[in-house]
Amino acid sequence: PLPLAIYPDRPNSRGVEFGDRFQLASLTEGMGRSAGTVDAGPLAPGLKAGAAQEIRSPSDPSKVAGTVRFTDPKDVDTAVNTALKGFKSWSRTDPGVRAAALDRAADLLEDRRDRFMALLSIEAGKTLDDGIAEIREAVDFLRYYAARSRDMFSKMQPMPGPTGEENRLGWRGRGVFVCISPWNFPLAIFLGQVSAGLAAGNAVIAKPAEQTPLIAHEAICLMHEAGVPKDVLLCLPGEGDVGAALTSHPKIGGVAFTGSTETARAINRTLAAKDGPIVPFIAETGGLNAMIVDATALAEQVADDVVMSAFRSAGQRCSALRLLFVQDDVADHMIEMIEGAARELKLGDPSKPSTDVGPVIDEAQRQMLADHIATISKTQKLVYAGDAPNQGLFFAPHIVELKEAAALDREIFGPVLHVVRYKAKKLDQVLDAIDATGFGLTLGVHSRIEATVRKVIDRLDTGNVYINRNMIGAVVGTQPFGGSGLSGTGFKAGGPHYLMRFAVEQAVSVNT
Ligand code: NAD
Repeated sequence: PLPLAIYPDRPNSRGVEFGDRFQLASLTEGMGRSAGTVDAGPLAPGLKAGAAQEIRSPSDPSKVAGTVRFTDPKDVDTAVNTALKGFKSWSRTDPGVRAAALDRAADLLEDRRDRFMALLSIEAGKTLDDGIAEIREAVDFLRYYAARSRDMFSKMQPMPGPTGEENRLGWRGRGVFVCISPWNFPLAIFLGQVSAGLAAGNAVIAKPAEQTPLIAHEAICLMHEAGVPKDVLLCLPGEGDVGAALTSHPKIGGVAFTGSTETARAINRTLAAKDGPIVPFIAETGGLNAMIVDATALAEQVADDVVMSAFRSAGQRCSALRLLFVQDDVADHMIEMIEGAARELKLGDPSKPSTDVGPVIDEAQRQMLADHIATISKTQKLVYAGDAPNQGLFFAPHIVELKEAAALDREIFGPVLHVVRYKAKKLDQVLDAIDATGFGLTLGVHSRIEATVRKVIDRLDTGNVYINRNMIGAVVGTQPFGGSGLSGTGFKAGGPHYLMRFAVEQAVSVNT
């Protein structure tokens, strides 16, 4: 039997130590045994299914991962009314019972990691390292929000007041929460939103990304098995039109969204125009993430951290490094080291333990990246273009040197690193350029000068700042994650305040 622990660097939440390449190999065998296709469709009582479409693997489009029947947007009303009934009973369920269902789901997910790893690899093109980390993150979200909800919802907080008056403040769910998620963390972000909504006492309607409905289907079935009733947690696979129908429904109680800034703006407009109560909108969106490297940084460490931050997961992380500012005295050496490290990355079949970088998610993303390189290399210097396998939807790491940061004016979601040289005396201009992007998700600093590090942290409002390390892989409960400005609304996912926007406060005053 495989060991219970699943994340390579830490004991798991049951306190079991684990993890090395040998275990990755046994995981690969387990994946082989538990691979198999999924037939996904709306998980909502009484909903009819549309025509089945095939979902193909991005690393090998000849492989069918399963089929999905998308939801008809006209059925959204039935789903919301079902969830409203579910909400009535779930909101009155003891918070400890709700939390126990989430803990049970975490146990089931750990036990079925082979199955989920196989799905993450075939449907989303995740490498073993990325898949293991993602399963672990999903487990962490389930347990973390279960624990937070026990604290927040189990008892009312006593408040001060005059003699003869008893005052208390408590939290309760808002109603039907709509959770809309992206394809790049099809398990962790998906279950993170869902578990937060449920932990806070809401019914949840989940709308997974159209590219990854199979993992979502399997995850929702697991939540039902763990004890979350089917009228409390519904899943409506579909494209953006299903998300738009859900967010315009007058009876929803809130929206949690993770995805592009552009879609967040569209949802914001929909919510502003719809009938019904004014509801909270939690948006976690894109980034134009920068790293600053000065002459005191350690070159080997910078090369490792830059390659990890820009190219791992094929650059398909919202936290990934896009814009690297290097002090000009050391720039030639640093760029050479980074290019050398990028050349060592192995692209290919994501289910093999030796693969570092898997495919991009679909042909549209591959084409967008190819177009970006074709356009930007007309005016800026293409420093490095890696080789991608011929079969499958791969896009190799690229490095582009920009004359100025403003040459990159949007998030390029893939393995493209843009480098800008700066003069030591012009650090303020670098900070202004980062500020001018309007995004504020992640920021890296490599410097051994304390005053520089302090200055960067003081000047910028970026949500997650990483000093002398890579800038990806935030850990639930340790590095609460989320940005400011164009990157999101907060509160941070995996942090102590996240559940608050999913809930409402009630103050009770008793004349004793
Ligand atoms: P996307 O915005 O295209 O899609 C996200 C979800 O929104 C999908 O489920 C989609 O079907 C749905 N959607 C599309 N149009 C809609 C509409 N009008 N109304 C309601 N829902 C609609 O994003 P994507 O391409 O799936 O994901 C990549 C983006 O997500 C990147 O910008 C990345 O930076 C961002 N992201 C952010 C975080 C974070 O925590 N800040 C995490 C992961 C990804």
